[in-house]
Amino acid sequence: MKLCTFHHPHGKRVPGAVVGDRVVDLERALREQRGLTERVADLGTLLRHPTLDRDGVCPRAELAAVVDRAAALIADRGGATDDTLAPRLDAVRLAAPIARPPVIWAVGLNYRDHAEEQNKQPPAQPMLFTKAPTSVIGPGEPIELPAGRDAIDAEAELGIVIGRRASAPVPSERALAHVLGFTVCNDVSDRAAQKSDRQYCRAKSWRTFAPMGPVVVTPDAVGDAADLGVEQRLNGEVWQRSRTDQLIFSAAHLVAWISDFCDLEPGTVISTGTPGGVGVFRDPPVFLRDGDLVECEVEGIGTLRNPVIRRDEGSS
Ligand code: MG
Repeated sequence: MKLCTFHHPHGKRVPGAVVGDRVVDLERALREQRGLTERVADLGTLLRHPTLDRDGVCPRAELAAVVDRAAALIADRGGATDDTLAPRLDAVRLAAPIARPPVIWAVGLNYRDHAEEQNKQPPAQPMLFTKAPTSVIGPGEPIELPAGRDAIDAEAELGIVIGRRASAPVPSERALAHVLGFTVCNDVSDRAAQKSDRQYCRAKSWRTFAPMGPVVVTPDAVGDAADLGVEQRLNGEVWQRSRTDQLIFSAAHLVAWISDFCDLEPGTVISTGTPGGVGVFRDPPVFLRDGDLVECEVEGIGTLRNPVIRRDEGSS
């Protein structure tokens, strides 16, 4: 299943599921099938709705049932599809799947090749930090270089989206049951702030520094995401190319590790770290400039494209 958040051709933003060349409006499908009455503007809000966020309910299975029913309705109409229930994918604009995650966890130094690039030993435990939820943007939206900041680069990462609440430690063998699916994240980074602050929080949290999408792919399609190609292209040129089999701590390990000390709420995103090749470690270092195009791709999930613009001095 490929889940997303999209803007209808008439402008309304809703959660969706890609079925062939159509995208099912999950807000409408849940209204018709489950009696949903509230406005639900994105996949993250839907995951925290009582319809899906309750004991004993697997949100993945619930959503699959709703999508199957909607797909059957569309098939019954012999292709004369109601564009309100399921507009054509090429007629909609995709948004960040999770508009405002409860928290974005991110992991530093989690690829063997990225550790080698810095001449560092692989860490003995995950090196966690957080990114502000307000830094999220979707596919096609511009990464804004803040005025006066000129040491910013991009990091292609596999993202984990939590679907099922974890209020107690989850062993890694059961971690995947709490995962809705996987997405593509770009962990945009202000290297000057990272250096001056001697920690990551501000450097990773400027507005627009967490591009995410284009879709969330459930584990039935990509398994535990343990061997997927990861690539970053800058203006069409390959900058990062690796595979998730280089991950020091797997997706399941990270979910288990975080759940040991902290609740995982539905819609939480875990950005699993980046492989070698990022701009700051180039010789000489290369940073993002106004007019650049960054593409981050994870095999089996999709490509996240974001243009880069320079925010003018004094703009807000
Ligand atoms: Mg990173």
